[in-house]
Amino acid sequence: MRRISANYIFPVTKTPLKNGIIEVDDSGSVLNIIDTQGHLTESRNLEFYNGVIVPGFINAHCHLELSELKGKLNQGLTIPGFINLMISYKKNTDSEKAISVARLHDSLMKQNGIVAVADIVNNTLTIEIKKKSKIYYHNFIELIGLGSNANEIFNKNILLYSEFINSGLKASLIPHAPYSVSENLFELLVQFATENNSILSVHNQESESENEMFRTKKGKLVDLFTSLGIDLSGWKPSGKNSIDFLMENFPKENNILFVHNLYSTKKEIASIANEFLNSYFVICPLSNYFIESKYPDLDNFLPFSEKITIGTDSLASNNSLSILEEMKVLAKLGSTLSFETILKWGTINGARALKLEEKLGSIEIGKIPGLNLITDFDFTNMQIADKSNVRVLV
Ligand SMILES: [Zn+2]
Repeated sequence: MRRISANYIFPVTKTPLKNGIIEVDDSGSVLNIIDTQGHLTESRNLEFYNGVIVPGFINAHCHLELSELKGKLNQGLTIPGFINLMISYKKNTDSEKAISVARLHDSLMKQNGIVAVADIVNNTLTIEIKKKSKIYYHNFIELIGLGSNANEIFNKNILLYSEFINSGLKASLIPHAPYSVSENLFELLVQFATENNSILSVHNQESESENEMFRTKKGKLVDLFTSLGIDLSGWKPSGKNSIDFLMENFPKENNILFVHNLYSTKKEIASIANEFLNSYFVICPLSNYFIESKYPDLDNFLPFSEKITIGTDSLASNNSLSILEEMKVLAKLGSTLSFETILKWGTINGARALKLEEKLGSIEIGKIPGLNLITDFDFTNMQIADKSNVRVLV
C-alpha cells in the first residue's frame, strides 16, 4: 500500500483537500482518502509531493493512427484545405513507421497522465499498440461515404469493427461528419447504434463551409468534393445548418460525443443538450486554433458545464497529445473559470461520456483513476500556470 499526499488533493467529485492523503493498493485502487484538515504530521511511509494531485485525464477525441502527420501540415488551412492534404498524406502512409510513431505517442499520452482515450479509427494500424497499452481506448470506427455504395462501406467497416472487438477492445461504428456520409449510410449506422446502444461520436460544425454546404450546396467543402470527383448529384441541401441533420437523425438515448462545435450557435448548443439526454461536447481548442485560427466560444457551452469534455484531436493539428496543455488554454480563454471546473471537463465528464465513471474520472474509494501530480501550480490563484507540468504518480 502507498500513502500519498500533496499541497492539495482534487478528488473532482468532492471539494479539494488541503494536505489530504490518498491510500492506494498495488493495483492503483483507492483504499482510503483522508482529510487531515490541512494539518499533515510526519508519518510512516508517507510520500509528500509539492503540487496538486488530480485523477488521470480522459482524452475525449484523438486520432492516434495519424500521429505520423505531426508537423507535416501548415496552420490555418481551414477544414476543406486540411481534409484535402490529409487525403494525399494518407495515401503515402508507410505503416511500419506510422505504427512506431503511434506507439511512441501512446506512451507519451500515458506520461502526460491520460488514462482513457476516445480514439477515431479508420484502419487496424493501432490494434496491436492498444492491446498492450496501459491506456483504455474506446475505438470509434469512422465511416465516410457519399456515394451509392452504402452497404458495401458498412459491411467493410463491420469487419474492421470485428477485428477490434475480437482483440478485446471496445469499439463503435460512427459517421465521420454529417457532410461526409450519405443518408443511406447514416441510416445503417443509426440502426446499428440503436441495436447495440453504442457510444457515438461525430465531428460537428468544425468549419463554416459545413453549414454552407447544408444550406446552399455551395462553398469550399462542395468545391473540394467536386475536385475529388465525388458525385454529389444525389445529395440535396436541407437549407438548414448541418446540425439540423444530426438533430433529426441521431438516436436520442445513446451517449453521443459532439466534437468541436466550433461554428455551432449558442441556440444550437442548447438544442443538442436538451434533445440528446446523454450528449457531451468535446472541446479541442489547440486543434481548432491550428486548423481554423479560432477558439471555441466557451460562453455557448458553459450553461452545460456537466457535458463538456476535452480532446486533443490528432497530431496532424496539434503539437502534443496532452490534456493538461488543452486545460492551460481553457484557463486563459475562460479567465473566470475555476481549476475545479476545467478539471471536471478533463476527467469525470469524459469518463461519463465513455461510460467509465465506475472506475475512472475521480478519486473515490474503489476506483482506479490513476493519480497525476501537477507541479508548478499557481497556488495564489488556485489555477494551472503556463509552466505547470504533469507527473504520473500512480
Ligand atoms: Zn477529429
